[in-house]
Amino acid sequence: SAKKSLGQNFLTDPNVLINIAIAAGIDNEDDVIEVGPGIGALTEQLARRAHQVLAFEIDQNLLDVLDDTLAEYKNVTVLNQDVLKANLPNEISEYFDGKHHLKMVANLPYYITTPILKMFMASPLPIEKMVVMMQKEVADRLTAKPGTKEYGSLSVVVQYRMHTAVEFDVPAKVFVPKPKVDSAIVSLTPRDDWTIKPDDEIEFFKTVHGCFMHRRKNIWNNLQGLYGKDASIKETIQMVLDDLEISPQIRPERLTVEDFIRLANRLGKTDMKRK
Ligand code: SAM
Repeated sequence: SAKKSLGQNFLTDPNVLINIAIAAGIDNEDDVIEVGPGIGALTEQLARRAHQVLAFEIDQNLLDVLDDTLAEYKNVTVLNQDVLKANLPNEISEYFDGKHHLKMVANLPYYITTPILKMFMASPLPIEKMVVMMQKEVADRLTAKPGTKEYGSLSVVVQYRMHTAVEFDVPAKVFVPKPKVDSAIVSLTPRDDWTIKPDDEIEFFKTVHGCFMHRRKNIWNNLQGLYGKDASIKETIQMVLDDLEISPQIRPERLTVEDFIRLANRLGKTDMKRK
């Protein structure tokens, strides 16, 4: 039976499974990392199409079922590992030949969506596409455009690295057991098409998080929250915003990824220190 603690909601609708493989564009030129194969329904659709599949399943109790479901596929390896603790580059070089396109597909437990995405985005692996099932609400945030209420720091830090798109929505009823929320399939592809780059990525991420600390406050107040309220600091913040032609009155959700890059770079050239 499904384990709630491991976020086990198994997909049953064959059309949804096939559509995930199609959204990922899996073919025999691809090696696929799957996270959380469960009982192997999606794994099977991947194995039919891919060159090789490497699946990470944390739950030892599912290994026998997976063996059965996948018995006829010689191109699948299941590793009984927590993917967050796996040494991915090592595992990849052991099971994949490096001559195929690398993709990641996952129907994840919702509580590890963000850590898993962060891990894969930060990894040195040349992943060309990720196709991930997630809670609809998180899908909306990952794909949100500036000026919408879903747009926040997660939207900015993910969209800085990846082009994101909702491929299709998935109703709760196609899972067993049925989760409380609806889901969506999101595709993420690495991007490197910014006309301006952060001088320092860590500073950029910190600026983004700091500017969204209080969503309902304007950028002027959020920056004072970050740096302080002394007269000289206020003056410097005013000068930075003037330089960038950003109105101090606007809320953080109005700023594009490029605005945040410019802002972080400009702040980095002042002598202000974050509190
Ligand atoms: N892919 C299957 C499907 O579509 O029916 C199962 C999806 S279920 C939502 C998530 C799966 O991820 C479960 O089988 C669970 O045991 C596994 N899992 C949870 N945390 C994991 C982790 N850290 N590493 C690897 N697998 C994990």
